[in-house]
Amino acid sequence: MSSEFSIIDQFFKPLSAGMKQQGEIGIGDDGAVISCPSESQLVVVTDTLIEGVHFPEQTDAYDIAWKALAVNLSDLAAMGATPAFYTLALTLPEKYHDDPWLMAFADGLKAIGERFSIPLVGGDTTKGPVLTLTVTAQGWVPVGEAILRAGAGVGDDIYVSGLIGDGGLGLKAVEQMLEETGQDYRQCIEKLNRPMPRIELGKALLSLASAAIDISDGLLADLKHILEASAVSADVDFSQVPFSSAMMRYQRRSRDYLMPLVAGDDYELCFTASKARRAEIEALAETIGVRLSRIGEIKELEGQASRVCLMNLPENLADLEGRQGYQHF
Ligand code: ADP
Ligand code: MG
Repeated sequence: MSSEFSIIDQFFKPLSAGMKQQGEIGIGDDGAVISCPSESQLVVVTDTLIEGVHFPEQTDAYDIAWKALAVNLSDLAAMGATPAFYTLALTLPEKYHDDPWLMAFADGLKAIGERFSIPLVGGDTTKGPVLTLTVTAQGWVPVGEAILRAGAGVGDDIYVSGLIGDGGLGLKAVEQMLEETGQDYRQCIEKLNRPMPRIELGKALLSLASAAIDISDGLLADLKHILEASAVSADVDFSQVPFSSAMMRYQRRSRDYLMPLVAGDDYELCFTASKARRAEIEALAETIGVRLSRIGEIKELEGQASRVCLMNLPENLADLEGRQGYQHF
């Protein structure tokens, strides 16, 4: 059983190692000391994960750590920020005060911290009934250039990165709610447990996107946030939304075609850009090796409320819903 101080020294202090500037101070004093680049603004994001609420109880310590930082990095990505540093407030139940668990947890933090060059500079460690992790991450953007939700203009294209819905399908798989198991569900579980924040894409979008958000609560809900912030509506072409083979199989079997659009845990980016930027965006997808799909268009607001109009739904869904091939959300 480790004391709070030995936990910090043994497991967390080494994760401050990525601090590069002279005179910076990470874990060990009352506060961290950070050098700020000139001509930059700080972007600050925070997200809490609670065991049994945001991840299932049987999740590996490594994956819990990865995800706690990844979901924050995903917010930084959506702003176009370059990761700088993070803090971790950790509430640990007694059962996790053992070295193997803490070691795996620290390994997960180390892996994602090194992957995205972001050191842990401080935090707080308490005992409590439920494993709870609050990460606060900070990143830099050039002054005035952060990508906001509010910039989408009528006529802009709407894009998503990666594949949509696999995190949600991974959750169904770990909760054993799927009839069949297939090799490709592994990828969905991987996506659920170790989302890969789209940092490189976000940075590249600084000069390209008119608005962006990361998809954590489901594509439709998160796109809606862009629409509301920008006072616009959208047409989304369902047939252009990118799905994995596992997802398409799930859709055919369950006839729940909309599941990927409302499932959370994607941690992909949804962004808008002027049509004039299409060639650049295609080229960007090639350069960074991330699939970018153009799924719709920003429309003028009709009335007060922003709406998503889904076009080209599968016919059986249109029948199912008693509608004529589209739905409003
Ligand atoms: P204080 O009593 O001054 O708040 P603490 O004993 O809580 O100090 O923390 C000592 C040092 O360890 C501080 O630098 C703090 O930022 C760091 N620290 C504590 N918990 C964590 C954690 N979970 N992750 C990273 N750093 C931590
Ligand atoms: Mg403290």
